Amino acid sequence: MIHSVQKDKKEVREKMKRITSLILLLCFMMFSLSANAYQLNGHRVVNPQYVTYWAPTNDGIATPTEIDAVVSAISSWQVHCPEIKIFRSNTINASMIIDFYLDVDNDAYAVTYFNSKEIAFYKPWRSLSMVRKQETAVHEAGHILGLEHCQPQYNSEAVMRKDGFNDLACPLADDKRGIAALY
Ligand SMILES: [Zn+2]
Repeated sequence: MIHSVQKDKKEVREKMKRITSLILLLCFMMFSLSANAYQLNGHRVVNPQYVTYWAPTNDGIATPTEIDAVVSAISSWQVHCPEIKIFRSNTINASMIIDFYLDVDNDAYAVTYFNSKEIAFYKPWRSLSMVRKQETAVHEAGHILGLEHCQPQYNSEAVMRKDGFNDLACPLADDKRGIAALY
């Protein structure tokens, strides 16, 4: 009888150990999930498989090389994220509108205006290296797609970093996780 009670107690202890391990594992998983750097901004495109952009072909402000650089940078979202397909639009009824204000300083490389779905490039952008010009374009398109700036400690794996550059003109690991989570 005594032996049996002790055995029961031992079983209960083992069970408690297993439950504790499970709870710790769940806590760890939840922490891992919340530790994602990406942040969503509450915006999203209507159809991620049909994201359109309008860009000037030759507007007398940006050079054809600069326009091409922005267009190919935006298209990198479809290269790296299977959820996204990008198409050129012939009208300004598009998911995003590319505009160049390279004679206006505005104290910014570029700004995304959600109301008009416009990505505007400003004078400081012109003095960036080519890869940084493109990284800026990828970043702004990320805002249109629904990504906010990432948590700073993850800057090296996110084109959505708030400040500075990775000198990589494409979405990175954390950006891809954000898009996969959103769409
Ligand atoms: Zn930004």
